[in-house]
Amino acid sequence: MDFTPNDLRSLAENYYYHGFRTTKTVKSTIETAYLYYKDISSYSSRYSKYCEKIDVLLESELSLKTKELWRIPIKSEKTHLPLITIQYNFSPTNEITYEFMDGYEPIKGIKNKIVFETKTDGSTIVKGDIPVMFIASLLGQFDKDSEQYHFYTEMVMYFNIRDGVDLEGKKGMEPFKVGNLCTKCGKGHLEFFYKPSDSRGGNVRTRTDSWKCDSCGQIFTAFNVTSYDDIFVN
Ligand SMILES: [Zn+2]
Repeated sequence: MDFTPNDLRSLAENYYYHGFRTTKTVKSTIETAYLYYKDISSYSSRYSKYCEKIDVLLESELSLKTKELWRIPIKSEKTHLPLITIQYNFSPTNEITYEFMDGYEPIKGIKNKIVFETKTDGSTIVKGDIPVMFIASLLGQFDKDSEQYHFYTEMVMYFNIRDGVDLEGKKGMEPFKVGNLCTKCGKGHLEFFYKPSDSRGGNVRTRTDSWKCDSCGQIFTAFNVTSYDDIFVN
């Protein structure tokens, strides 16, 4: 399904005014989590699968202005997300707010934020998404039955794995991914196999992802995500 710039804009505004799209708990202190997400310049190495580059235009203690290029497909425009300018602000110290300044007209002027809260056990609740995840999640809403949706699904997994490894020191486990050698026949390779099984209730999201061998046809069902902890081994 194609969307218009106005569709995207109203969806973005809806998320901004009616709460955070995602909330997750990370096992690190709020200071560590905050510094981790505040380190925008490192996104290009941390999320290298999708991030082409982060150029810093202006930097001060409390703000940062960047030009960012991410490899995110935009189906309706048959192209990738263009270079976007983003203004970040780091005050107060439990929030990272950002505004899309330039580059991609449908979201120009849209603001959003990530908010950090300490839990009683010392872990940290992270509410909201970094800018590119916010954009990708909006784009994904328009394409629930397509290859493009698989792209966003895999992207969310990738970001959660990277954050688990880099922020929380978990040992990443990626037992099934596109291109892996099939463990049943040892000849074919895995391709993403879509089954529409997403569901969402309250803040809990469950999802089953499957991969299929391109040779013997074996289907591997990887996980049923109710918590992102499921994709890690400790
Ligand atoms: Zn096979």
